[in-house]
Amino acid sequence: MIEHKFNFGDKVFHGSCSWNTTWEQCPDCLGSGIWHVILPNKEEFDVPCGTCCDVWSTNRGKIPKEGYTAKVTRLTIGSIRADTYDKEGPIKYMCRETGIGSGSLWKESDMFHTEEEAMAHAKNEEVRLIEDRDEREEKKKLKEDKKN
Ligand SMILES: [Zn+2]
Repeated sequence: MIEHKFNFGDKVFHGSCSWNTTWEQCPDCLGSGIWHVILPNKEEFDVPCGTCCDVWSTNRGKIPKEGYTAKVTRLTIGSIRADTYDKEGPIKYMCRETGIGSGSLWKESDMFHTEEEAMAHAKNEEVRLIEDRDEREEKKKLKEDKKN
C-alpha cells in the first residue's frame, strides 16, 4: 500500500526553483532606451542607449539578469500516479491546471498544503542549486589552476 499525501481535488502548492532570465531596468538610460546627448556647441539629439539597445534591442530599456528564481505554483490535484520504480519518489500527480491524462507530472516531494511551506522548500532548493553551482565553478577553477 502506497501512501499519498494529497487526494483528488486537493488544492496544493508546488515549490520549485528554476534558472531563468529576468529583465531589469537598464541603469544607464533608466528604462527609456535613449541617451539624450548635448554637444558643447549646444546641439541636442537622442541616440539609442549603448547599454541595452545594441544587443537587446527587443527589450529596449531593460537588461537581462540570469539567476535562480524560487517560485510557487498553485495546483489542483487531478490524478494520482504511483510508480514504485520511480527514482524521484513513488507518487506523482497530474493537475487540472496543467493537464490530466497528458501534461506535467508533479513530484510529491515538491508539493505542500500551504504556500509558505512551498516557498520555504523552493528557497531551500535555490540555496542548494547555488551552492552546487559554486562548487562546480570552484572545481573548474582548481583544474584550470593546475594546468597553468
Ligand atoms: Zn539602456
